[in-house]
Amino acid sequence: MNIHEYQARQLFDRYGIAIPEAHVVHTAQEAAVAFKQLGTAVAVVKAQVYAGGRGKGGGVQLVRSAEQAKDVAQQILEKPLVTPQTGPDGVWVHQLLVAAGVEIVHEYYLAIAVDRSAACPVLIASEAGGMDIEQVADATPEAIIRERIDPVAGLQPFQASKIAYFLGFSGLQAKIARQVITQLSRLFLDTDASLAEINPLVTTVQGQLLAIDAKINFDDNALYRQDEIQAMTQNAQTNPAEVRAAEHDLSYIKLEGNIGCLVNGAGLAMATMDMIKLHGAEPANFLDVGGSASEQAVTEAFRIILEDPNVKGILVNIFGGIAKCDTIARAIIQAAKEIGFSVPLVVRLEGTNVQIARELLEQAKDDLPTMGIGLDLTDAAKKITAQITTGV
Ligand code: GDP
Ligand code: MN
Repeated sequence: MNIHEYQARQLFDRYGIAIPEAHVVHTAQEAAVAFKQLGTAVAVVKAQVYAGGRGKGGGVQLVRSAEQAKDVAQQILEKPLVTPQTGPDGVWVHQLLVAAGVEIVHEYYLAIAVDRSAACPVLIASEAGGMDIEQVADATPEAIIRERIDPVAGLQPFQASKIAYFLGFSGLQAKIARQVITQLSRLFLDTDASLAEINPLVTTVQGQLLAIDAKINFDDNALYRQDEIQAMTQNAQTNPAEVRAAEHDLSYIKLEGNIGCLVNGAGLAMATMDMIKLHGAEPANFLDVGGSASEQAVTEAFRIILEDPNVKGILVNIFGGIAKCDTIARAIIQAAKEIGFSVPLVVRLEGTNVQIARELLEQAKDDLPTMGIGLDLTDAAKKITAQITTGV
């Protein structure tokens, strides 16, 4: 689960990690007002989206007047922001952060993530922070220090000292760096985070040590005991169809292609997507209805797929184990009655109650004029891709 930079900054502030003053705004006019409120010579206008790499996509820009703050805000709000992490369509920006600009001396990288192979959090730090940290990790891994954190005892003082020393801090800055490192690890453990990243942590001309970017992700499975975090994620920038699907316990992820897939089981869903690609088309979504999905939930799944204007055909691939084929068949018929399949549909069913399912579909044939039957996965994938690519 993600939160926005401005929310992560609030948590930093509470844990005593210094951040520049900033205001959240929603319009270009408000951005101009925020610039004046800050009263600094330079401010930075920052798109609040979950994707990183904003600096490279024009989503983080320095401004030197209220007028310029307004223009830049306008420019960011009026079209989707494309960054190396958003995909080609980009994401719409609804909120901006207008932060006091700082005069940077050096950019450091500081983060805590989960090291799955070590089964504990790991603190990662580098003197080479900023927008190209990924290249640093590839080209000069020795410029990065990794320190495992005992999840029960927490980060130890000697570890904080070691990292501050590795980063080259001395004197008062080393003391502050140790505090930032220690507090970031407390924040990480207290909030059940899966990632807490400061990139960059900067030293300024005035000698301060400030976090000027903030990214925190949380473990979804721990949200039940993190009420405050859960509240922060409520207005999450997630695809509305994905939210609807989650409400029905469906795992749905929208993709770029035009063949809607309805499958049970994540592994089978992956295999189905592979088969669609193998036969020359692209899946419009990943959708796993799970083992115990009700007819209602599966009908909702069809609604979600059918509402996607990119979908030009639908492939249903069900291997009935715990899921029953007749439940799926009933949902298909329900969806046909409610919405109607305006696009070709190929259905492949095997397993529990498949005979009943086939009979149900046979009886409902008139409601399903675009339906074809797939004998097996290959046959089904071939049939649906042929419909898309040749229009027959
Ligand atoms: P990201 O690209 O999404 O990670 O966004 P960041 O918030 O990290 O900003 C990208 C880059 O903009 C930083 O690495 C800095 O180089 C620069 N930047 C951000 N805020 C300031 C600022 O207040 N002053 C200056 N001089 N540069 C900034
Ligand atoms: Mn950053």
